[in-house]
Amino acid sequence: MTLDTAPPRHEVAASAAEGPLGNAHSQLRSAVATLGLDDGIHRMLAQPRREITVQVPLRRDDGSVEVLTGHRVQHNFARGPAKGGIRYSPAVTLDEVRALAMWMTWKCSLVDVPYGGAKGGITIDPRHYSRDELERVTRRYTTEILPIIGPERDIPAPDIGTDEQTMAWMMDTYSVSVGHTAPGVVTGKPVSVGGSLGRSSATSQGVVHIALAALAHLGIARAGATAAVQGFGKVGAGAALILAEAGVEVLAVSDQYGAVHHPDGLDVRALDQHVAATGSVVGFSGAESFPPEQLLGLDVDLLVPAAVEGVRNEHNAGPVQAKVIVEGANGPTTGAADEILSANGVLVVPDILANAGGVIVSYFEWVQGNQSYWWTEGEVNHRLEQRMLMAWNDLLETQCRTRLTLREAATVTAVEKVAHAHQVRGIYP
Ligand code: GLU
Repeated sequence: MTLDTAPPRHEVAASAAEGPLGNAHSQLRSAVATLGLDDGIHRMLAQPRREITVQVPLRRDDGSVEVLTGHRVQHNFARGPAKGGIRYSPAVTLDEVRALAMWMTWKCSLVDVPYGGAKGGITIDPRHYSRDELERVTRRYTTEILPIIGPERDIPAPDIGTDEQTMAWMMDTYSVSVGHTAPGVVTGKPVSVGGSLGRSSATSQGVVHIALAALAHLGIARAGATAAVQGFGKVGAGAALILAEAGVEVLAVSDQYGAVHHPDGLDVRALDQHVAATGSVVGFSGAESFPPEQLLGLDVDLLVPAAVEGVRNEHNAGPVQAKVIVEGANGPTTGAADEILSANGVLVVPDILANAGGVIVSYFEWVQGNQSYWWTEGEVNHRLEQRMLMAWNDLLETQCRTRLTLREAATVTAVEKVAHAHQVRGIYP
């Protein structure tokens, strides 16, 4: 028997060429090459440390039984417990969760929160299930992944299709199983059970801090600057509202059903009320409708993709007219699109910085919970802004020094810190 069964150079990282995981692997590959890291460390960073796929049986309200599939992937623990959201979406696959978990590792490293990355998800369209059904699914999924989560092991949080209520059910299920209330097992909980003030708006706040800093960096005054936002969920709607409050004219937004536009800027608050009442931006009386695929090519200063992965690809990156793209979503830009945007002089602020506000305030929530001590909303928001802008300034400095793109510079910085943690910890035994 040979002990040397390791695949040859870069085979692991090159094996998944498609979709978000292919994108994540090629970003890692180029960071590894820039840093001159060896194959062993590359392999350790390319593979999740631990992953679990579970079957989640659900008794539906009509008495029938359905079996759903869930995953939890823990990409890395070198810098601390694993951390990342739980996604409920029909598009969830193990490879998608693996990519998102890897991006969480880089995000936590880049903004210096002491976690590794994780992600979880269930392949389910939550819009087609009752609240009681979603509670049963969540509790059973939590029970299935319970052996690998915990306040010091892996700390879930909300993502697409999940919210504060989902986190409350997860926290309760975990707490009942271990025999004591364990608020630190999840973040993004309701404030009444140990959630942090400011957590629900944190990702959007962070996106806007970075968007305003990026506009200023390009010499564009925020008052009268124009923006388009793709996706009007938790992150996109929040970002659009805060951008409008900051004086930016949000000309267009889209969701999965359609898109609306107003040449003088949308009344985002009224649009938000329309979406709360109808479930979509479609039919909003204060705007014109237009085909959502045209949003990415609008003549605006700022574009905020806040939907899902891979929406900007080699087919639609060319017509982008925005001066800056701030990635509210995880992985919205493919590698081919990145090359086109960079050649066209579009500044792309990568997801692992732009949407890090959520996990930064998750960290604050966990710290407050561990200390049983609560910060004011002002304190949370102030510390969030400080951390986001510190990371932005550091990134600009790295980019200036290395002449890499912002995404390359961010990935290199993040990967270097994780690789260093592995190197100083060593391999046991
Ligand atoms: N799901 C969010 C993200 O993708 C937040 C994760 C967290 O707070 O752990 O960054």
